[in-house]
Amino acid sequence: MPIPALFLRVAVPSPLHRLFDYLAPAECNPAALAPGMRVRVPFGKTKTIGILVEVVAHSAVESGRLKTALEVLDEQPLLSADLLQLAQWASGYYHYPLGEVFASMLPALLRSGKAPETKSLRRWRITPQGATIAPDSLTRAPRQAALMRLLHAHPEGLSSAQFLEHPGDWQETLRALIKKGWVEIDETGDAGHIPQSREQPLMLNPPQQEAVTAACDALGNFQAFLLDGVTGSGKTEVYLQIIEQTLARGLQALVLVPEIGLTPQLIERFQRRFNLPLAVLHSGMSDRERLSAWVIARGGQASIIIGTRSAVFTPLKNPGVIIIDEEHDTSFKQQDGFRYSARDVAVMRAHQANIPVILGSATPSLESLHNVNSGRYHSLKLPERAGSALHPSIETLDVRHQPMDDNLSQPLLTLIARHLAQDNQVLLFLNRRGYAPTLLCHDCGWVAECRRCDAHLTLHQGSRLLQCHHCGTQRPLDKHCPACKSTDLRALGYGTERIEHALKNKFPETLITRIDRDSTRRKGTLKTLLEGVHSGASQILLGTQMLAKGHHFPDVTLVGILDTDQGLFSADFRASERMAQLILQVAGRAGRAEKTGQVVLQTHHPDHPLLQLLLTQGYHRFAEAALEERRDVGLPPYSTLALLRAEASHRDYPQQFLNQAREAAQVLNMAGVELLGPVPAPMEKRAGHYRAHLLIQATRRSDLHQLLDAWLPGLKKIPGQRKVRWALDVDPTEMV
Ligand code: ADP
Ligand code: ZN
Ligand code: ZN
Repeated sequence: MPIPALFLRVAVPSPLHRLFDYLAPAECNPAALAPGMRVRVPFGKTKTIGILVEVVAHSAVESGRLKTALEVLDEQPLLSADLLQLAQWASGYYHYPLGEVFASMLPALLRSGKAPETKSLRRWRITPQGATIAPDSLTRAPRQAALMRLLHAHPEGLSSAQFLEHPGDWQETLRALIKKGWVEIDETGDAGHIPQSREQPLMLNPPQQEAVTAACDALGNFQAFLLDGVTGSGKTEVYLQIIEQTLARGLQALVLVPEIGLTPQLIERFQRRFNLPLAVLHSGMSDRERLSAWVIARGGQASIIIGTRSAVFTPLKNPGVIIIDEEHDTSFKQQDGFRYSARDVAVMRAHQANIPVILGSATPSLESLHNVNSGRYHSLKLPERAGSALHPSIETLDVRHQPMDDNLSQPLLTLIARHLAQDNQVLLFLNRRGYAPTLLCHDCGWVAECRRCDAHLTLHQGSRLLQCHHCGTQRPLDKHCPACKSTDLRALGYGTERIEHALKNKFPETLITRIDRDSTRRKGTLKTLLEGVHSGASQILLGTQMLAKGHHFPDVTLVGILDTDQGLFSADFRASERMAQLILQVAGRAGRAEKTGQVVLQTHHPDHPLLQLLLTQGYHRFAEAALEERRDVGLPPYSTLALLRAEASHRDYPQQFLNQAREAAQVLNMAGVELLGPVPAPMEKRAGHYRAHLLIQATRRSDLHQLLDAWLPGLKKIPGQRKVRWALDVDPTEMV
């Protein structure tokens, strides 16, 4: 009897929106094939690795034209059925090729064919001999002393993830300690029996208790919660106790945090509480570390998985709950390639897995508040700060007519001096790094511009560079004006570097810590800088939005926002929402312990209606007003959007393509959908490319997707298509 032919339907990472059929390799056992396995296949002139989606008995492709798959790489499916289902949904919803979706879900080493194995279960433990060594006696080897202190505190041993935030080359230091016989490696993969929480849970206040109970009652069922609590109201404590109950049922917890909020502090807090191996996933990790975290999450050795955006796709052996901290944060949306929202994917994942999902924020997104209003999400409120901490007072500081000294008004300087004199700390916020955003020739008016973008170059005084913050181009600082040779070049405007400089002159006795992407570039420096603040050595803390999230600075009693007005006037309809969130997030850093905080906003528009509403009535009244505005003009969440973006090195091509695309959509004549544009992007030229976009808007989500399904496949045939790079952004969050 002839063996019936088998065809493998494979999702290959390629821009083509389709699966590819292959003949099964001759030596493979058809019974052992299952969706979710990786398959190496010939593709065009090369070979690639795809994911097996289906094994079928018929193929629409003529048999003569079918190629044979080279090799099935896995004995067990690498991707479980639930992740396959999630990927299919995401591919459909974001109109992004399934093979590319899979590629974004997998750690690089798995994409390139490596086996899903790890050495990460390795732990380092202090030896009996090492236990007799006092870390403080190692005065000549400060790094060894620091690691010994850590190992003393964890006699059960530490995993590599737990050393990760340690400054310097900890592996080298560990090797030295092993040589001395003070430290040993445990590779049994057994974390030891440490079921007891090391740090005891706090007694919950009634709203916290209500939140924990509601979420835990939902374990085993899908329900979406918005945990809506002001900064310091004890949201993290609520997460910790939900997780504790989840673990007690033998289930895993997946915790998503913003890119910047993944602070050493948060990980340490989880470790203190649980003392279990954590799987940590963020962009600063090596490929090997990512693979390890992925493997121990999939195998169930890690019960808690903490990570940034892409961690939403981490495999879980026993999914129990998903928590999204700071759910309003923009870093949950991927802004290139596969442009998904990790928050929205997480809610869908919870829905498919039938588990609860908790979205936490002090300043919830208008989308999530709308979902509460419409009954889709269940609201859990923590109205008060936990413990004894008081709400900070927030007031505007009218800087009109005020003499400004390096962007610092006299009343602010007086306040800073007063708080410092009381031995408190001050936090100053300015969301612009570098020394100055513009370099100007005073003699002829020349301005240093980026050749590749519609943007000025930012002056960085410390490195003596001019840098474009949009494309990364940099060049040495000019000594003379390139136009008129004058040496009178002046810095215009203010960045954190310049404010730091000014503060050093004003407060020469005070140690100032600046935290932004430039000052924390080297691995470990962020931690060192934060330690200086927590120890009290540094009294003025200055920084960008890196400071706005997640940190606790209990001794900060004064927060100054130097440039409030940046967010007030912007073409982006989300700008005022972002401004309100940022103000409250920054304000939330102050006075978290017994000390009451004072927050001042330097502004030229103290009477701005939304700003007034926010300060006098609070975030929720502000959000209601902002939602009303959105409803009146039919913007999200009262409509859904998709943005078709195009770019090319020639200015006309994107608009030509988008005009043709628009015509193609009009031919389809779909009801309920409106096309707006095309228009040039707000920053038309970026990194040498001219950009334009076409906005697609619909009141009903289904109308939007119906159009996209019918329209997108045809775009590949539009004549102008070859001259541009184009991409679709579903639920765009940035219009730039
Ligand atoms: P959030 O995550 O909402 O900013 P946290 O969970 O970090 O708040 O709590 C803020 C502070 O309040 C922390 O120092 C925490 O230890 C304390 N805290 C939280 N819950 C309680 C509680 N039930 N009783 C006493 N203190 C609490
Ligand atoms: Zn000049
Ligand atoms: Zn540029």
